[in-house]
Amino acid sequence: MSDEYGTEVLDPDEIEMYAEGRHTKHYHDRSQFRDPGGRSALRVGKRRFACPTCGKKGALSAADVRLGYQCDDCANAQERGY
Ligand SMILES: [Zn+2]
Repeated sequence: MSDEYGTEVLDPDEIEMYAEGRHTKHYHDRSQFRDPGGRSALRVGKRRFACPTCGKKGALSAADVRLGYQCDDCANAQERGY
């Protein structure tokens, strides 16, 4: 399954498996699942990991890291060809 940016997208049920086992209903609010504008592929959750590309701290959640994501800035730069 892919979104319009070609990023792999997981079902909410699959996200739960990545959610460290201490997710709350609050974090599963659909409005927080993804950027409503569709630009961010990053997942919900506490962002306490650094981006592997630019090293920005607090950019990624554990789920993001496991899925191999980078921060929004880096992802946008890559997708736009900057
Ligand atoms: Zn980054």
